[in-house]
Amino acid sequence: MATAALRTAVVTGASSGIGAATARRLAAEGYHVVLTARRADRIEALAAELTAAGHEATAYALDVTDRAAVDAFAAFLDRFPSVNVLVNNAGGALGADPVATGDPDDWRRMYEVNVLGVLHTTQALLPALTASGDGTVVVVSSTAGHGVYEGGAGYVAAKHGAHVLAETLRLEIVGRPVRVIEIAPGMVRTDEFAVTRFRGDQEKAARVYEGVAEPLTAEDVADTIGWAVTRPPHVNIDLLVVRPRAQASNTKVHREL
Ligand code: NDP
Repeated sequence: MATAALRTAVVTGASSGIGAATARRLAAEGYHVVLTARRADRIEALAAELTAAGHEATAYALDVTDRAAVDAFAAFLDRFPSVNVLVNNAGGALGADPVATGDPDDWRRMYEVNVLGVLHTTQALLPALTASGDGTVVVVSSTAGHGVYEGGAGYVAAKHGAHVLAETLRLEIVGRPVRVIEIAPGMVRTDEFAVTRFRGDQEKAARVYEGVAEPLTAEDVADTIGWAVTRPPHVNIDLLVVRPRAQASNTKVHREL
């Protein structure tokens, strides 16, 4: 097994929100973090910040929906002594339309990033994760992967897909030295998630969190990822559902209005 100093953790979607917080957390845990996302400037700035703070970090611009690019990324990782952790965090929602009027193109794009993106990186990195002798695949799904809500079907369907991928992979690779951990967060207030969902409409995005005393933060979710990943290798946290106290289910949220 590689020593702690040589262990490498790849985080997808590390340019903002949960992914950036997770990269910070895993760097603090002693991993060499490889930050990926489409916005190179963001991940380069975060890698520079982490490096200046004495951590080890590398930025690599990557669109997880582009299989050829993901394969090239896997080849790039050959220069690291081992690849120990893959955090599949890149993803998101587009729109909140009912099934009757939802845009099929939104559904397609959500499936591409939330399901096929996870599939691409997991398939491409699984050989290296296995070869490390102590690999971990994390899938950041959502409570949307475990229950429905009105106006959410496209995202809910995609996140159910991510959940199914994680659960099936765990069955299929049992006996190999790779854990499969699913983290399913509820409401998390990040800078971009709801703004992206509502295509830049800040007011609609703000309404998601209106009156909710304390939605989860990106750091709260990164904390659960950091905890799950740093359990001893024989301990597999299959599924961790984490919500703010004010949210009892996808559709039951306490708002102080
Ligand atoms: P953000 O919108 O802040 O982060 C999404 C990240 O994914 C960005 O870094 C973005 O980077 C990256 N990304 C999007 N598309 C691609 C792509 N095609 N290739 C590579 N990277 C991509 O949202 P959050 O931090 O809130 O969400 C992170 C994850 O957590 C997502 O999977 C989301 O579905 C999930 N989640 C979020 C919840 C919430 O309430 N916020 C709740 C439950 C789950 P870039 O644009 O630079 O490529």
